[in-house]
Amino acid sequence: MVSDRIIWVDNTVTINWAWTSQPKWRAETELLNATSLLNNLAAPTSDSDRWIWKFGTYSTCAFVSHLTELAASSSPITDPTITNSLIPQKIGIFIWRAKQNKLPVRTELDKRGIDLDLTRCPVCDDDQETLQHALLACKHSIEIWNRILKWWKLNSLHIANLKELSKCSNPSFNSHTGLAIWQAVVWTTSYFIWKNRNDFVFGNAKQSCPKIVSDIQSKTFEWINSRWKKGNLEWLQWISNPLSFDVNPNTKAGIG
Ligand SMILES: [Zn+2]
Repeated sequence: MVSDRIIWVDNTVTINWAWTSQPKWRAETELLNATSLLNNLAAPTSDSDRWIWKFGTYSTCAFVSHLTELAASSSPITDPTITNSLIPQKIGIFIWRAKQNKLPVRTELDKRGIDLDLTRCPVCDDDQETLQHALLACKHSIEIWNRILKWWKLNSLHIANLKELSKCSNPSFNSHTGLAIWQAVVWTTSYFIWKNRNDFVFGNAKQSCPKIVSDIQSKTFEWINSRWKKGNLEWLQWISNPLSFDVNPNTKAGIG
């Protein structure tokens, strides 16, 4: 109980921690900071205890109501830049989280005070694991992107940062449809890179880049074919020359 740990004698606070093991490293610093806050503590009044947060007295009900408001004002459903009807919504939600840098890479977890042994990239161990590194700069990811570019006979991804990942603009396409299908492939590739990173972190074997790319090819083929109402992909054409449908600028599909 708090009353067992914080003891008042003659209006002076004494803290009786009774640790089973003494806090160390970052926990010790946090403890010192927290203890200094307690120095200004006023003697207890007869009021019953309550939680205060920036919106007044805290309750689960107040929390849910604020969360609902927040979710309504900022959501992938209301963000028109994160819509591609050729692939499942979970991919769009993933890209929306990536755009806002809200995926749990190690440097972000560290910033939020979660104690990790290390913040280096679990896949390559060459650099700090930021989201930009994980999705775009890790050598494992670069190899996947290079294979995707080779498949599409393109020279460059034209994506320098996470914000550009959601737009996917690329001068190589003639039609709205072409760009929508390319965006579906880029988003799915990002999703597979992240999924593969997680599988590896949580104990599964690292998949080879050719295997991941072949999974991306078959998944995008399946997803696009089942959702694209005005068109149809042929498997052999899809894996040998995916740009071949990108001829008619008047056909519209996918984005928006
Ligand atoms: Zn890496």
